Amino acid sequence: MLKIGYLVSGGIITNYKCSSKCKHCCYASSPEWPDDYMTPSMADEIFSILKSLGCHSVHIGGGEPLLKPDKILDVLQAAKENNVDIEYIETNASWYRDEASADAVLKDLKKYGVHTLLISIDPYHNEYIPFWKVKALMVACSRVRMGVLPWLMDFWADLDAMDDRKPHSLDEYARFFGQDYLLQLPKRYGLNLKGRALKTYKPRMKKQPFEEILKESKPCRLLSGIYHFHVDLYGNFVPQSCPGLSIPLRELLNGADPDKYRIFYNVESFGVGGFAELAIKEYGYDPKAEYAGKCDLCYDIRSYLVLERGLDLPDLKPEGHYKYA
Ligand code: SF4
Ligand code: SF4
Repeated sequence: MLKIGYLVSGGIITNYKCSSKCKHCCYASSPEWPDDYMTPSMADEIFSILKSLGCHSVHIGGGEPLLKPDKILDVLQAAKENNVDIEYIETNASWYRDEASADAVLKDLKKYGVHTLLISIDPYHNEYIPFWKVKALMVACSRVRMGVLPWLMDFWADLDAMDDRKPHSLDEYARFFGQDYLLQLPKRYGLNLKGRALKTYKPRMKKQPFEEILKESKPCRLLSGIYHFHVDLYGNFVPQSCPGLSIPLRELLNGADPDKYRIFYNVESFGVGGFAELAIKEYGYDPKAEYAGKCDLCYDIRSYLVLERGLDLPDLKPEGHYKYA
């Protein structure tokens, strides 16, 4: 059985829809996603399960969780009722309009027990969000005494060197700081090369023969990330670092059937090698000669199953992860 007995700390994805379509987004969020938000009853179910598994605090992320600020209050209320603390809410600051409306949102969040915002600061986000909004939101936080976790301060001077009234493309950064700048970005940021981030960087990654990837294949242990798992608005447990693979959290509580979640079970137990064998044998997957590493192979198979074959597989959810990457 696929089972979870203990979780320490993770994140809640209240919506995948986002104002931006950042090139480094491992969740493949974008404005194209449906306008779905976590419902109060789903939030209540998730927090009560998390609490029963020993998880007493979570952060909230997305998508952009404050795209529609009123949608998040019921989620926060459910957390409160289940005695789960909110460590912080991640935001890209795109929703900032003016002082009065920002203060009102922040005061509401504080009333519901949120005391810190993690605010994104990096060139990827700056392709969509002008830096003045980030600065103004930080000032608003200081005005209403909301804590700020600037993510990452290391990029502040870079963004501040550009005109803060408008967004700037990565090409502009390369023109300003030199071509090396873009090559160093993934490492400076600490990118998780999955989802859209993998798509963005794949052309520059070293290629490896298919057979060699199979030979090196090891179990991916998707259920062991008890400190940085996510649960999304549909109730899916999203393993640490591997979005697009999922099992409903409520099923993992009592033990999910490996025959129902065969892909998840295969990568969990045998790694991408086991998954590739399954895909070739049962779904007619035709492997390429080489890939940009094991995760590229894993994504190639998953995208084939969801997008090319149009299969409705319970462990490759939500489909939007593949559609909108
Ligand atoms: S990185 Fe954040 S802001 Fe950018 S698309 Fe993903 S969720 Fe949206
Ligand atoms: S091979 Fe697949 S499951 Fe394993 S780490 Fe890479 S993306 Fe995740």
